[in-house]
Amino acid sequence: MGRQGNTIAAVATPAGPGAIGILRLSGPGAADIAAACFRPLGRKGLLDHPTRTLVYGSLLDCEGQVIDQVLCTYSRGPASYTGEDTAELHCHGSPMVLSLGLEALFAQGARQAGPGEFTQRAFLNGRLDLAQAEGVADLLDARSREGARQAAGQLSGALSRKIAAIYSALVDVMAHFHAVLDYPDEDIDPFTQEQLARDLEAQRQDLEALLSTYQRGRRLSRGVKCAIVGRPNAGKSSLLNTLAGYDRAIVTDIPGTTRDTVEETVELGGIPLRLIDTAGLRDSSDPIEQLGVERSRRAMEEAELILVVLDQSQPAREEDAALIRAAVERAPTIVVLNKQDLPCQLEWTEPLDLAASVPICAKTGAGLDGLAELVAQTFPRDPGSGYGELLTNQRQAEAAGRALESVRRAGEALDLGVTPDALLTDVEEALSALGELTGQSVRDDVTDRIFQRFCVGK
Ligand code: GDP
Repeated sequence: MGRQGNTIAAVATPAGPGAIGILRLSGPGAADIAAACFRPLGRKGLLDHPTRTLVYGSLLDCEGQVIDQVLCTYSRGPASYTGEDTAELHCHGSPMVLSLGLEALFAQGARQAGPGEFTQRAFLNGRLDLAQAEGVADLLDARSREGARQAAGQLSGALSRKIAAIYSALVDVMAHFHAVLDYPDEDIDPFTQEQLARDLEAQRQDLEALLSTYQRGRRLSRGVKCAIVGRPNAGKSSLLNTLAGYDRAIVTDIPGTTRDTVEETVELGGIPLRLIDTAGLRDSSDPIEQLGVERSRRAMEEAELILVVLDQSQPAREEDAALIRAAVERAPTIVVLNKQDLPCQLEWTEPLDLAASVPICAKTGAGLDGLAELVAQTFPRDPGSGYGELLTNQRQAEAAGRALESVRRAGEALDLGVTPDALLTDVEEALSALGELTGQSVRDDVTDRIFQRFCVGK
């Protein structure tokens, strides 16, 4: 039981019926437990097949009753996701089959895996570093194409390689300092001093560039808060519904219950947009919409992107111009000229020069490509950073920020002629902060918290 007891099992696919449902096992007892619960169709036993082969057969409960016809694969550690012996049972995606199958695995000595425990084991066994493990979580949570590409890059180690390059350069700097410390009676010679200053400055710049990726990384992982504003009847809720892909207004518009609580995320131009106050948008027939101006103002206050919707089939009013002016002062703004299918009566151009604008027909979705293009242009990709090289969460940004601070301090200390051992402390702190990013020097409670973010089975 000792070996088996450290073997974890979980359903790895989402709840509910599906084409396929997967049970996952990892730990020293994985081979025995899988072999006990799975009977191959052919004469060869599961473990007689080469590792990582898909074998067809029956999933059995502890009384030998067939639960399902399944495909089973066994991977011998350390060449597996977790680095341990693992097995997967690909069943029909029936919640009942998965429950019975899981019970069978437990009956053979496996225990229920906690959230993220498979990936945590992969981390503890050195199969993934912490930044890569966070890439796994980001990939599962991705709400936009750009976000998914970023997460996939992070999972494949792009961020880790960037950090490793800075880390290694700082280790070189430290080696230099140590060499100086070995001769404590001598001052740092001017040549060495200049070289060290140059090296520190180069790493300071790299760290600054790394830290500056956080803005986009955060937007991709958390979404850009977006306000859709405009006069009643301009077509705001039509635009929302077209963006959301289906007509939710009819379904969820129950006054007093959903108001002020609904927030939707849509993807536009590869960027996840969190639409603020969508409940308010759906209330256009409600008298409260008379307070539309107040609503718009509140929504604009928190926005990182503002879409001002104008009905271009109506003559523009001063309040439209005022709204555009107020918007551009607060956040990047796109003016959406709606109802392109109707003749244009707008009759002014001046306020339109203040922001990018795009013609659309919210009713049919015509012109949304142009809007998507403007959104993508508003939040452009930094040509210096490839996919997977962005910092995407606060933990990473804080650690990178501390590394930057320490390197900056070391550089200043060097300029001031501070003793080498004091400089060394700063560089060591920078290394330690960088190590937190990849998990080399991070406390267990911190990693535990990170893996709590994952779902059970991952
Ligand atoms: P809101 O008050 O700004 O949310 O505006 P709505 O989305 O409720 O739209 C007001 C009216 O304009 C509705 O009757 C819509 O069907 C209509 N409408 C919205 N977009 C278009 C469009 O692109 N073309 C036309 N012809 N009508 C539209």
